Amino acid sequence: MEFLDKISKKATQACKATADKTGKIAKETKLKLKMGDLKCQINELYEQIGKKVYEQHAREQEIDIKKELEEECTKIDVLSDEIEQLLKQCLELKNKKQCESCHYQIEKEDRFCPNCGAKQTKEQPKEVEILQDLREADVKEEKEEEKQFVEQKLEDKIEEKLEDEEQQDRKNQEDEEGEYEENLKKTVEIESNIEEYEEENDNSNEENKEDE
Ligand SMILES: [Zn+2]
Repeated sequence: MEFLDKISKKATQACKATADKTGKIAKETKLKLKMGDLKCQINELYEQIGKKVYEQHAREQEIDIKKELEEECTKIDVLSDEIEQLLKQCLELKNKKQCESCHYQIEKEDRFCPNCGAKQTKEQPKEVEILQDLREADVKEEKEEEKQFVEQKLEDKIEEKLEDEEQQDRKNQEDEEGEYEENLKKTVEIESNIEEYEEENDNSNEENKEDE
């Protein structure tokens, strides 16, 4: 019976994992379609800009970019921002993010970019944003107490999270230092082995000469 239980448990787990993965793929596909659509819209705007510029040129007129192309340019800016957001969501699904400096795809938990070495700033806990919204929100007098209570809870949670992160940082640093020491020890060991080997070789060479 226990055996059957184990099997069904495993099957459920496998099912869940597959569902999770399928969900992610579906989400990614949706995001990609949306990004493709936005890119098309941007291309159309490029075309409109090009047409305007050509027409002005054909009429031998100067084009005032600020005045005549502002609308298209603003639209492109907005669409680009939207694409950027979608891309972020896409990367998030794969537990990745972009380097803040060179925009290379890196792991979400990377503290330094493996491509350019730039240090990555930490994301603030999502509670920070919620707290800000809450503080700005107007509530009725009778709800004021409740609001303060929730604010306090959020503040505690943020503090807790930041402390956890600090601890993790310290631990990472210690690990890195430990690794450095370990490597140093190994290097010294290897070097002394080489020295020993060379000495022995020298000795045996001399012995060989004596034999001759
Ligand atoms: Zn980088």
